[in-house]
Amino acid sequence: MTNLQYKEALKKIKEAFNERENIYFEAQKNLLKTNKEYAKLNSELKDLVLKNAELDNKKFDKQIKELELKMLEIEKKANIKLPEHICKICNDEGTVNGKICTCIKTIVNKELIKKSNIDEMNLKTLEDCDFSRFDEKTRKEQQKIYKFFEEEIINNIYNSKYKNVLVCGAPGVGKTFLFSVVAGELLKRNISTIYLSAFNLNNLFLKFHTTFSEDKFQILEPLENIDCLLIDDLGTEPILNNVTGEYLLSLLKERVMKGKTTLINSNIMLDAINDRYGERIFSRLVDKSNSIAFLMTSKNNRL
Ligand SMILES: [Zn+2]
Repeated sequence: MTNLQYKEALKKIKEAFNERENIYFEAQKNLLKTNKEYAKLNSELKDLVLKNAELDNKKFDKQIKELELKMLEIEKKANIKLPEHICKICNDEGTVNGKICTCIKTIVNKELIKKSNIDEMNLKTLEDCDFSRFDEKTRKEQQKIYKFFEEEIINNIYNSKYKNVLVCGAPGVGKTFLFSVVAGELLKRNISTIYLSAFNLNNLFLKFHTTFSEDKFQILEPLENIDCLLIDDLGTEPILNNVTGEYLLSLLKERVMKGKTTLINSNIMLDAINDRYGERIFSRLVDKSNSIAFLMTSKNNRL
């Protein structure tokens, strides 16, 4: 991340917070007009703040604090809430213990995604997730896999030993659905996430391959650095010579090296993945030291 990217992302967060603050100030103004007690406290407060400033000391600090608390009480009764920080991890400071906060990374990555023309898939969270439209066998499989995702990825992504997760199954058994829930839950936890189809991923590889300007590295940078990359429907994209397999392999390598997590779903089974992408990609995806593969055996549930 460049310094400029950092500054722009932080500016966005500050602006979003200012907007919340302005709503709060507006509500305060209205309260001043309608609540005499509140207005009285406010003018007393102003006087004391002025006196403090004139005397250039903190003589009235305690009284000021008391007045502020009284005013807060009235605001509370009027249902006016103090503006909350946009990011509760860093309180909109942009860094935590000297490290760049995930909120900044998420914004920077989103910007990069926009520039790369990656469309973000339709994301869901657990609340809008309805497993009931699948038959019992499919549902049980989905829930078993979801439980794994929840324990190992959603709630443990930075410490999990699993860096590659592959879910294979027939079309229509809800893999895309499952992945969009996982992606939504990750984003809810401020974990930087990209969810894209293998088709679009392949197009980005091609774009990178055929771009010769210096900014070509921006095309793949977010894919290499995002905390969690979800790839939908591996196997449906056309295989492009010197592109698809080569870039996929290098992306997977790069991401494991950086300790990043990659989740892939596919309509084709393991042996077909081996045939299609070759031994080097296949062996990475089934390497037991850092990868796991799930096989959904249920049939198509699509009506
Ligand atoms: Zn933050």
